[in-house]
Amino acid sequence: MTGFASLPPVTAAESAAQTAAELQSSEVGILQDIHALLSGRQFAVLTGAGLSTDSGIPDYRGPGAAPRTPITYQEFIGEPGNRQRYWARNHIGWSHLRRADPNDGHAAVARLEQRGLLTGLITQNVDRLHEDAGSVNVVDLHGRFDQVVCLDCRRLFSRRMLASVLEELNPGFLERAQAAGVVEMAPDADATVEDAGLIESFVVSRCPACAGTLKPDFVYFGENVPKDRVERSYAMVDAARALLVAGSSLTVMSGLRFVRHAAKQGKEVVIINRGPTRGDDLATIKLDAGVSGALTWLAAELPPL
Ligand SMILES: [Zn+2]
Repeated sequence: MTGFASLPPVTAAESAAQTAAELQSSEVGILQDIHALLSGRQFAVLTGAGLSTDSGIPDYRGPGAAPRTPITYQEFIGEPGNRQRYWARNHIGWSHLRRADPNDGHAAVARLEQRGLLTGLITQNVDRLHEDAGSVNVVDLHGRFDQVVCLDCRRLFSRRMLASVLEELNPGFLERAQAAGVVEMAPDADATVEDAGLIESFVVSRCPACAGTLKPDFVYFGENVPKDRVERSYAMVDAARALLVAGSSLTVMSGLRFVRHAAKQGKEVVIINRGPTRGDDLATIKLDAGVSGALTWLAAELPPL
């Protein structure tokens, strides 16, 4: 952070203009088609990890991503050793993720909502950067990294509160982890650490209310998205005349089903993503590009309703 102190401040408008200026002319051509398709229509937006890569949060599945298998719900529940490893890595990952700031792509989505263009925003990201950028009507489909849930009494706790509990239980742990070197960060605040002894020394916190098992409040692989979130998301798509997907490869069904739902209703589907997605054959228009620049261009060009 201190390394940037000597640079002149960049305003949000200047930053957005620079982001949009990085678009190639072929990309602008496709964006003009998207503009024509979305103009005068309210649409729903579905976002994924590709939106947060410009905030320094790596994607699981984007081009160049290292192959990685996230922990499943069954693994988390089944083995105390898995929970210890998971929480140790999450403690390191959270201290990194909580410092991330929203980027121009998040700002552009918030602007689309402010101008009355959206029926709602469905995000597969747990990083809360859309909310930080000012988006209001958001479904956090896969949960929130800033909350922790007790699996026994179902109470919710703030991750920030838990961080200080974990600090007290594990004095000096983060410093030792930093010295050992973090190998890889993941979008769910998981961090890969090679030092097995460090992980085995980690003390996991129990629920402060009932001494039950705590879990980050996001949906693991092998777990279902809560019904109310799914219903709210379908309602956003039902109320829309089009669906815009940005920064998701639609690998998991929890996101792909909304694309199928929109297509089945004869609604236009627009996909902006770097690389192929599982919804490409259902898209009216697909733009293979970075999402920050494309969304910034659209937010600047689409007229308010
Ligand atoms: Zn509890």
